[in-house]
Amino acid sequence: MILLGSTGSIGVNTLAIAERFGLHVEVLGAGRNIELLNRQIKRFNPSIVVIQEARDRPIVDHPRVLIGQEGIMEAIREAKSDLVINAIVGFAGLRATLEALTCKKRVALANKESLVVAGAFLDSSDIIPIDSEHFGLWYLHDITRPIERMLITASGGAFRDWPLERLQHATLADALRHPNWSMGRKITIDSATMTNKLFELLEARWLFGEGNFDAIIETRSLIHALIDYRDGSTTAHFARADMQLPIAFALLGSVQERIVDRVDLLECGGLEFRAIDPERYPIWSIKEDLLRRPKRGVIVNAANEAAIERFIADEIGFMQIARLTLDAYAHFDVEASEVDALFALDEEVRRWVKER
Ligand code: NAD
Ligand code: MG
Repeated sequence: MILLGSTGSIGVNTLAIAERFGLHVEVLGAGRNIELLNRQIKRFNPSIVVIQEARDRPIVDHPRVLIGQEGIMEAIREAKSDLVINAIVGFAGLRATLEALTCKKRVALANKESLVVAGAFLDSSDIIPIDSEHFGLWYLHDITRPIERMLITASGGAFRDWPLERLQHATLADALRHPNWSMGRKITIDSATMTNKLFELLEARWLFGEGNFDAIIETRSLIHALIDYRDGSTTAHFARADMQLPIAFALLGSVQERIVDRVDLLECGGLEFRAIDPERYPIWSIKEDLLRRPKRGVIVNAANEAAIERFIADEIGFMQIARLTLDAYAHFDVEASEVDALFALDEEVRRWVKER
């Protein structure tokens, strides 16, 4: 496989599955955590390594090191593996997805921003999503029966129990205290604002086609997806909050062994469901509109990434992330008509958010 983003939360879990099932890793791609990358090189012996910055090259223990976005594209073209695991975070992962699909490779896609931004231009039949909710939907999805609604669950993120008036004073450290999942920094912030769930609804729309999609909070993160069938039945996918389960399916196709411990319902005792309140999660106010006009995902994503950068730099407060994103969504009432236009639009929206 070609693994991009190997040093991140998804990357490390992917390598755990690769090791357990003896899968060959032909390419390792990472950002700037060279210490961990070097340990991965030693263990998995890839033929090609890609890093983000040329200045790190001297400390990488490998004879063939490629650099940056160009390096990623070159590695995808050159490698023989026909499976690319894209676990890069953010818009930076889009080019890898596009290149992999152009090269007729299958993409195991954790980089949800690819679908959020460019879903209209990607052939989802070559994409296997790595996300617990889409895995849950796929697991439940039975097309022999008419489906009425597909539901995914949210944990509610770090601030689900905070008094509303305190939210504007929330710090980065507060936002990173996720109740149930251990994940990278950006997606953890996206969970606190509920933008992650908005993105997942968009992804679901591109992966499963037009339909009725929605989300609710399930505070334990033991149910990841539910499907309402027309006959009145609802099915639910229960599994422990562990990304190795969807990753194993994405890498292996079918799974014959235990990957995670089963959820023990007696031990769990009870479950709590809540509606997603747009007062606590203002981004939720554009859900219907965005699902009607899913091509506008690029605007939401660019604004959100730029606003998160400003939040991390301590220039804006937590609630400003959603505020700026909603403002950008209202301001840029456009849709890209082809892939190249996405890159220009992304840049323009980022600039706009940085100047606010
Ligand atoms: P992370 O921050 O832990 O890891 C990101 C990885 O990408 C790192 O290896 C980093 O070095 C690399 N990277 C970052 N910027 C790069 C760039 N410009 N060029 C090359 N490499 C770069 O993030 P994560 O939590 O593993 O999430 C990765 C993706 O998977 C995100 O899109 C996220 O939304 C999605 N996802 C994550 C989880 C999870 O449980 N962590 C679950 C579902 C989906
Ligand atoms: Mg998810």
